[in-house]
Parts: sequence; structure tokens; C-alpha cells
Amino acid sequence: MVKQNYLAVDSTLLHLHEVTAKTRVSLQNTFPEIVSSQAPSFVRNVTAMMMDGHGDDLPVSAIPVDGTYPSGTTKWEKRNISDLIPLWEPDLCIQCGNCSFVCPHSVIRSKFYHEEHLQQAPEGFPSAPINARGFPETRYTLQVYVEDCTGCNLCVEACPAHDPADAERKAINMAAKAPVLEREKENIHFFESMPLNDRTKIDYSLVRGVQFLEPLFEFSGACAGCGETPYLRTLSQLFGDRLIIANATGCSSIYGGNLPTTPWTTNAEGRGPAWSNSLLKTMPNLAWVCAFR
Ligand code: SF4
Ligand code: SF4
Repeated sequence: MVKQNYLAVDSTLLHLHEVTAKTRVSLQNTFPEIVSSQAPSFVRNVTAMMMDGHGDDLPVSAIPVDGTYPSGTTKWEKRNISDLIPLWEPDLCIQCGNCSFVCPHSVIRSKFYHEEHLQQAPEGFPSAPINARGFPETRYTLQVYVEDCTGCNLCVEACPAHDPADAERKAINMAAKAPVLEREKENIHFFESMPLNDRTKIDYSLVRGVQFLEPLFEFSGACAGCGETPYLRTLSQLFGDRLIIANATGCSSIYGGNLPTTPWTTNAEGRGPAWSNSLLKTMPNLAWVCAFR
């Protein structure tokens, strides 16, 4: 092994050769904006600087003075790390909610709504009649936030519905993102414009009902296919802004409170779970604690 390492180093030196660089850049491509111009000013002026690798250039005065840190910022990150994303097939879907329940990144959202909303929908916006009694003229849409998907395939594996004519085709299937990206961005924009579902009309003792509850933990930087984050997302759906988390240090403190973005977020009233992390969990009186506001 040691000889092989020496050999690898010696071979590298033997094969070094000079590359003549062009004196000017000819490529005309431009990079997309780090974050949307719609993002809050802190995200545009501070978070985006860190995401762009220029965090060292920030003055200390740019950071909140009280040790708290703005939450709900992963939604602006749009990492686009997967070329494959799931596509929903409304005609096959039984609306069980399995796919959104297992998604580690809160990428799959569901809503039911009066069919009159579809009058303002983009052309081809997918929907199906809701599969439940007592909801006349009501449609169901399952929306994939394609730019936040990690391509882990868990949603497809969890989907129980198959095409009777083609066992390989499920009610949700991985497909290339590039051809549908702009269309799906428009669909997401419209989906977000529709009201959230009324919690009092949802039986959230069932997976099927939980899919309609707003997650207050979303788009974390946890590994693709993470088995832990669906539990946190479900807690945030069930308990909302009444959730208090004392986080020991580990994976969940890294993806849960990782700079520069934060997956814990708030509802429309600006209220969300309270989160704190003790770095030295066995020595609480010496602990470094950070908290989100
Ligand atoms: S592929 Fe993975 S990250 Fe993407 S929507 Fe499905 S479960 Fe979520
Ligand atoms: S798991 Fe399949 S059948 Fe269930 S809601 Fe998702 S796409 Fe529909």
C-alpha cells in the first residue's frame, strides 16, 4: 500500500505538464442569481453572500446583535441538485399521502380546494377530484417543489398505486427535470396562491390527512433519503407553532441550524417552532446555545 502511494505521487510528478490558459474568457454564459430578488433583504444581503462563498467579506454589523437568527431561509436556496424529479399522475393517484409523508425534504405538498380556483390556474395545471365523501366540487393537487428535490426516489418507492396496464408506471415516477422546470415553477407559484387547508376539516390521525397540514420544517440540507427528517417535518405539521425543540448536537442540529440557511420556518402569522441547540449537551451550564426567532 505504501509503495502504491509513492508510485501514485511519482507518477503524478512525471505527468505534470504546463497548460496554456487563454488570456480572456470567451464564455458568454452568466450565472443565475444566488437568491430570488423576491427574497427578504437579510437573505439577499447576508445569506446570499455566504451562499456565494463571500461570508468573510460581511461586516460583523450585518449579523443580528442578539444571537438570534432569521428562520425559514432554505426556501430561497433552490439548490437544484437533482436532474431527476418525481412527476405526479393524477389519474392513477389514490391520494394516500405516502409520498409526501416519506419525503425527507418536504418537497411534496398537497391541497384540496374548490374547483373554481382552477379558473386562474396555468394551462395544464394537474388536479383530480378529491377522493373523499362530503367534498363536492372539490379538487386535489399534489405539487412537487422540483428545485428542492434531491432525487432520492423515496416517494416513488412508497407509492402503492400502479397503472393496471403497466406495472412499472406508478402514480408518481422519476423523470428528467429540465423539460418541465419552467412549467413546474409556474405551477408552484399558483399552488402557493391557493389557501392552506382548514385544520378543522382534516383527520390528521391518518397519514392521508397529514399531507394537508403545513410543514414548518422544509428543504433542509440533510442527506438525500434521510430517514430522520420526515419525523421532524411531521412534528412540525402536527404541532405547528406550539412545538418546542431542545436539540442535542448531531445530524439534526447540523441540518436544523446550519448556516447560512435555516429549514425551520414560520406560518403566515410569522409564528413557528422554537428551537435551541446546546453544543455541549453534558454540560448545560457551559453550553453554547443558539436560538431562532
Ligand atoms: S425524490 Fe426524494 S426528495 Fe425528491 S420528492 Fe421524492 S422523496 Fe422528496
Ligand atoms: S403515494 Fe402515490 S398514490 Fe399516494 S398520494 Fe403519492 S402519488 Fe398518490
